[in-house]
Amino acid sequence: MRTVIIGAGVVGLATAHELLRAGQEVTVLDAGAYGQGPSHGNAALVTSVLSFPVPAPGTIGVAARSIVTGSQAITIRPQFSPSYLGFLLRMARATTKSNFAAGTVAQDILTRMVLDGFAEYADEGLSFEQHTGGSMHTFTTRESFEAGVRVFDDFPEIRSRIRVLEGTEAVHEVDPGLAPEISYAYYAPADLQVEPESLMKALVASITAGGGTLREHTEVLDFATAGGKVSSVVTSEGSFDADQVVIAAGVASRSLAARLGARVPVRSGGGYSVDVHIDDPTRRPRTSVMTDTTHIAITPLDRGLRASSGMIIGQAEPTVSGRVIDGLLRDVRAVYPDAPLDDVRPGWAGLRPMSADGVPIIGLLPGWDNTYVATGHAMLGLTYAPPTAKVLRALMEGTAPEAYAAFSPARFGVRR
Ligand SMILES: Cc1cc2nc3c(=O)[nH]c(=O)nc-3n(C[C@H](O)[C@H](O)[C@H](O)COP(=O)(O)OP(=O)(O)OC[C@H]3O[C@@H](n4cnc5c(N)ncnc54)[C@H](O)[C@@H]3O)c2cc1C
Repeated sequence: MRTVIIGAGVVGLATAHELLRAGQEVTVLDAGAYGQGPSHGNAALVTSVLSFPVPAPGTIGVAARSIVTGSQAITIRPQFSPSYLGFLLRMARATTKSNFAAGTVAQDILTRMVLDGFAEYADEGLSFEQHTGGSMHTFTTRESFEAGVRVFDDFPEIRSRIRVLEGTEAVHEVDPGLAPEISYAYYAPADLQVEPESLMKALVASITAGGGTLREHTEVLDFATAGGKVSSVVTSEGSFDADQVVIAAGVASRSLAARLGARVPVRSGGGYSVDVHIDDPTRRPRTSVMTDTTHIAITPLDRGLRASSGMIIGQAEPTVSGRVIDGLLRDVRAVYPDAPLDDVRPGWAGLRPMSADGVPIIGLLPGWDNTYVATGHAMLGLTYAPPTAKVLRALMEGTAPEAYAAFSPARFGVRR
């Protein structure tokens, strides 16, 4: 079985690794170099808890206000195209309580596979930077803390994966470097830190050693089809014959799927990060922290820490200004007042693939019986890369449980 995977981000590489394990002949094509998109500089958090889709009750109100106020939580860049407006409307529909609950239940199928997926990588000998520091959501007021924890009320099993921390002492027991005024949090002890570049390097090494082919600087332009199947993938470097195709091209998956007449509503969700080198390990954060008012994520890594923020829906290019990075570092300082933040590396930006309903899009493209898509992972593409690969493999091998239909692109309609 010759499988061509379009896109060598973390999702495409994890998929290639899984399909090689399944005995398939795998070729991965990327328009640029592998892992240079959003997979590169993301916040490095692998969650065992956060199954909540981005479109949540209240999201659209926050986003709409951001156009006026410039608030950083979630921003919508206006674009006057009917398909973009359709995407935003679909996103607005996903924020109802019942759709949010259905999206959470669907995503939790993936979340429950995450820790095993990363443990398997380690068991196989993939060598990448991973830490077991857990993650913490911090809150500035009792009111916001209670609202944050209330989100779990409808999901008692997910709730059992967190510990609620009340009082400075409880919070500081997890990380004594946190600012003394942080006295409300919830903590997910099983969460991991995975340095994404090291993971992708390890996946590429394993793919190559396992007989897979990675072709960089090979842009997919079109498809040749015969009898309801894609028969080859047409690229800037010639055509690649395929028995199966997986489109894992991040935000570009939408236009590639459209070439096959299929609807894959993904749009960009821009974000940014910055690395701070901290030589002394005792002065680095001990856990990943996400804040309620400044909406930043801080993750400890071997080099020091990575701070990230931003959810700019419809951002055209991955850019971030020095002024924004300075603001991010000020927000980090408020969380870790004594951390040495002098050795700052240049800022980085990436465009996450956001699906219209917040749930990843994984499955056969409607109208095709050998072409799959795997995208729309939004804020959780690193986390969900191993489970996505397993879902695809199960779909290909005919062993997928019915519940995986929740990820199918068919939910957005059959044809454009
Ligand atoms: C600031 C920020 C913080 C984040 N933090 C986290 C986090 O802590 N945890 C987490 O789990 N996730 C996080 N994410 C999300 C995660 O990074 C993304 O969901 C993930 O990287 C998406 O991976 P992907 O492989 O689907 O897409 P990409 O990484 O975009 O890969 C797609 C690849 O397809 C290639 N491609 C596109 N078009 C073509 C074409 N025509 N031909 C050939 N190749 C093509 C591209 O060159 C690219 O390499 C974060 C993202 C950002 C931006």
